[in-house]
This record gives sequence, C-alpha cells and structure tokens, in this order.
Amino acid sequence: MTVAAWGTRGEPMAKHTSLRIGGPADVFVRVTSEDDLRGAVAVARQHELPVFVLGGGTNLLVADRGIRGVVIENAWSEDAVDGDTITAASGTALAHVAAAAARSGIEGLEWMATVPGTVGGAVHGNAGAFGSEAAAELIDAELMDLNGDSWTAANADLGFAYRTSALQGTPVIVVRARFRGRRGDRAAAVRRIKEIANERAAKQPLAQPNTGSIFRNPSGDFAGRLIEAAGLKGRRLGGAMVSAKHANFIVNTGTASAADVRELLRLCQREVKERFGVDLVPEVEMVGDWSAP
Ligand SMILES: Cc1cc2nc3c(=O)[nH]c(=O)nc-3n(C[C@H](O)[C@H](O)[C@H](O)COP(=O)(O)OP(=O)(O)OC[C@H]3O[C@@H](n4cnc5c(N)ncnc54)[C@H](O)[C@@H]3O)c2cc1C
Repeated sequence: MTVAAWGTRGEPMAKHTSLRIGGPADVFVRVTSEDDLRGAVAVARQHELPVFVLGGGTNLLVADRGIRGVVIENAWSEDAVDGDTITAASGTALAHVAAAAARSGIEGLEWMATVPGTVGGAVHGNAGAFGSEAAAELIDAELMDLNGDSWTAANADLGFAYRTSALQGTPVIVVRARFRGRRGDRAAAVRRIKEIANERAAKQPLAQPNTGSIFRNPSGDFAGRLIEAAGLKGRRLGGAMVSAKHANFIVNTGTASAADVRELLRLCQREVKERFGVDLVPEVEMVGDWSAP
C-alpha cells in the first residue's frame, strides 16, 4: 500500500488527547483489530516512517508542532475471561477490563475502572490507583517490535516500577495483556467500582481537560501537596492552570497550547525545588516535535 492511499494527513492530535492539545500528525491511522495493527506497523516500516502508538491519549502532552511520522490510534478492543484471568487486546479501555472482570465475578481489578486510557498505555506506564497498579495484576504481555516480530514477556521481564516500565523510551508495542484477579462476588466487585468512581469524582477536576497527575509523587510525599504549599494552586500561564481542585493536575482552560502547559509544569518544578529541594518528575509524557518554529 502507498502512504498516499493510507491514513489521514495532518490530523490534529488535540482531537485525540484528554488535554485537548497537540498539533498535527503527519499520517494518522486508527486500527480496530490485530490485523490492522500489524498491517499499519508493516506499512510504516515499508516507508521507513517513525511510529507512535496512541492509546487513549490520556497521559500525553503532544507538542504544538505535532508528531512526525505515523500515529497509530489503537482502538482494537477485545477481551476473554478464563477462570480468574482476563486477556485483553491492547486497545481495550482499562475501564472495560474492570467491568468485564466484575461481571464475570472476578475481584481485584476494580481500580482499573477509574483509570482512563487503554491496556497498552497502562502496561507501558504501569498505571495504578487505589493501592494497586498494572504490575500487581499482570501475568504477562504479548509484545511486538517494529519489524512485526512478537514474543511474550513475563511480568518480571517488564522492569516495572512506580508509574514506569522498561517499555518506556522503546518502540516496543504491547499487543495484548493477561491480568489475574481472584474469583469472588460479582455484586461486591460492581459495588466497589461505583464507590471508587464516586470517590474520584469528588477529588479530581474531571470537568476540565487534563491528563491526570502531572508529576509522579516523590518518595514519602505528594506532588500535589508540595505544589499547593509552594502557593501554585490556581496559577495560570496562558490557557493552562494548576487546578484549583487538585494541585497535581494542570488543566486546559480552553485555549492552552502545549508550550503553555510545559512552561507551567517547569514553573512548578522550579518553585518546588527552590522551596523544598524536591525534584518533581513528570508523569505525563511529552511527545512529538518540540523543535523551535
Ligand atoms: C482524569 C485522569 C485521571 C487519571 N488517573 C490516573 C490514575 O489514577 N493512575 C494512573 O496511573 N494514571 C492516571 N491517568 C493517566 C493515564 O490515564 C494513564 O497513564 C493511562 O495508563 C494512559 O493510557 P493511554 O492508553 O491513554 O496512553 P496514551 O496517553 O495514549 O499513551 C501514553 C504512552 O503509552 C504508550 N502506549 C500506548 N499504547 C501502547 C501500546 N499498545 N504499546 C506500547 N505503548 C503504548 C504511548 O506510546 C505513550 O508513550 C489519568 C488521566 C486522566 C486524564
């Protein structure tokens, strides 16, 4: 297939990120099956184009100049329950995994219901909430490189640590993942999902475009507490604002550019470092073409 007959040119990434920010992708392709995913990687390889796999776009700050090469939006959703395990395609919403597990009487995966994004993004960044994380539930994952070669990696081979994995900074793609819960009570699992969803809605600024926690929590402390103590809650820079509801969230008030968010993020880092000597490490991933115009 030729690139000209393939994908969409110049698709604004702002339409595909939870922050509603991000410039154009050179080529944008949405895939809904394993064959599509593998096919898209093969076409990109054939044309020697860089590949960026997009999940839900919920942990990304995409540059205003966009992303060079091919963005593959992974909308391949599929799951299968077997006893206390659930296998999910990498484009499956994590919330869907939680719901499917609960419906099948599997407990322990309820926290996934409140983390936006896909299975692939969650494995890549070791997403977690309410005292658990992907690393705690993952049995193994099928991976693929840009040559299309696949292999299965056990949990221990994925280099998981707090909000990170060995996949970060590599072009390796998660194809599918297998999680283990425990056989339990369907009604209890469904109830627990409702409880944590309510708890989350009360604490986080879910009404304004955001990307979840901007920084990882430093050991023994909370990034939000430090940012608030530095007097930055509600601070605006261009169209970006440190949320007045939760200081570890930067929200897009409607007109924010990626540059605004990056500057505000750096301001938080500088002030927290000056006042408390703590280096805040971004949890959000800055991707795309950040070169000066
Ligand atoms: C309101 C809100 C609340 C949030 N709460 C939490 C929370 O409680 N806990 C938490 O951990 N996070 C939270 N987040 C952040 C985000 O939801 C997670 O980081 C999520 O796992 C990102 O998944 P995604 O599919 O959206 O990935 P994307 O943002 O699309 O991509 C993130 C990275 O993962 C890579 N990636 C995506 N799919 C694949 C794949 N198939 N193979 C390889 N790499 C892939 C991308 O290339 C990129 O590098 C929150 C975000 C929002 C907006």
